[in-house]
Amino acid sequence: MNTGDDRSLYSWGKRAHVSSIATNDHQQPPTKKMKMTIKPPPKPRLIKNHIRLYYSKYCPLGDICKLVTMNSRLKSPQFRDVGLQFINGFFRKKFNRISEDQLINYIKKDPPVNIHIGLCKTADIITLEDGSNERMITPPEFKGSAYEIKKKIPPKIDIRNDGYGNSIHFCGEKKELVFDIDLCDYDEYDIRHCDCRNKKILCDICWLLIEGVVEVLSYFMKDILGYKSLMWVFSGGKGIHCWINDQQALSLSEQERKNIVKLVTMNDDKTMLNRLTEPLNPLMKRLYDNRLEKLFIEEGLKKRDILNNKGFIDRIFKMLDMINTNLKSFLSKEWYSIDGTISSIDKWSKLVAIITNTKQRQQKQVNPCVFIVFRLLYPILDEQVTSSLSHLIKSPFSINSSSTRISIPLVENDIKTLKIEQLPTLQGFIKDNGKNDLFNNGITILKQWINKY
Ligand SMILES: [Zn+2]
Repeated sequence: MNTGDDRSLYSWGKRAHVSSIATNDHQQPPTKKMKMTIKPPPKPRLIKNHIRLYYSKYCPLGDICKLVTMNSRLKSPQFRDVGLQFINGFFRKKFNRISEDQLINYIKKDPPVNIHIGLCKTADIITLEDGSNERMITPPEFKGSAYEIKKKIPPKIDIRNDGYGNSIHFCGEKKELVFDIDLCDYDEYDIRHCDCRNKKILCDICWLLIEGVVEVLSYFMKDILGYKSLMWVFSGGKGIHCWINDQQALSLSEQERKNIVKLVTMNDDKTMLNRLTEPLNPLMKRLYDNRLEKLFIEEGLKKRDILNNKGFIDRIFKMLDMINTNLKSFLSKEWYSIDGTISSIDKWSKLVAIITNTKQRQQKQVNPCVFIVFRLLYPILDEQVTSSLSHLIKSPFSINSSSTRISIPLVENDIKTLKIEQLPTLQGFIKDNGKNDLFNNGITILKQWINKY
């Protein structure tokens, strides 16, 4: 796998989806166990003609190109990292001296499965190892000899090796602040306890975690950091993307992006326990009081009844053990009654009552309720995705090669009421002749977001 054109994929780290595409046409033979049980539903497959029809007739390529060029110098795709990934896994990244129309025509002629977008650049110079052939793509103000151009490029230059023996010199100019949350990452931290755990699928209980992501990132980005221009995009797979397009966000350095990730990240139990000790930090207290507690009660307990799921109960008792309380002994008989006779809300009320009445909670400890709510709803962040300027993220309206679902921008306030079945697969979308309200609303959201700044 580490040869030829796949090499560029590996520079992105774990977000590469080579394997998921490569296995599409080669389904695994059934195991002995599978033969004895009900035959699993067939894995969704992408059909080339559907992809061609989608990009030629339905996909808002003009708006995607605007997204590509809106923050780049000269409004040209050649000053933005753009990558196209095809059904056979091939990935094309370089588009030299190409206009918006040419990019659209290229995509229509040879449609990819998905489009990836990265950094807006000032200049891009490729130098061969022996120095004999230097190719440059620069804006007009950088015209001149190679030596002169290098002198004119701002000193904050980033030099990387592209893996082909060439060094790429480029000056990053602007990039949206982006978050890419993937629920598969949650399994590493033992958070998902629905049937999707360790599988590449998504259910209504998983969607509760997406709602948690939106609450937490919306709080930090809007209420705390003051950003206004957030766009939420269903990833097409098992997650959600957040794009921030405020002018202040566009010019953040890698270090500044790292600092933002650091402000928000609490991926493991230990970090979370350390940051949630009583008295609760005002930053976290506001998040809990104003957003997360309500979400947990309304969406987790009342709507999804998650405390009648043994996996969640086991995990919560493990959390209680970490706080060194003997709460488990008070609760286990009642909580492990999971036949539905005791509702999740009643189970939760008993925990709250015990904590209140027996003063289990003490200073310098962690309130068990707060820890449970944060642990189950707080996002697992991937620092590299957000902080690295060279990282590419899938464009809205790309197709997920594994689920075959289309990546669609969503209205923040509608995310809580969204049903997974409403998110279209490519096959369903083509069958319905492109009639899908979420898809059409998504186009409006993207247009508004592009035109906001
Ligand atoms: Zn699930």
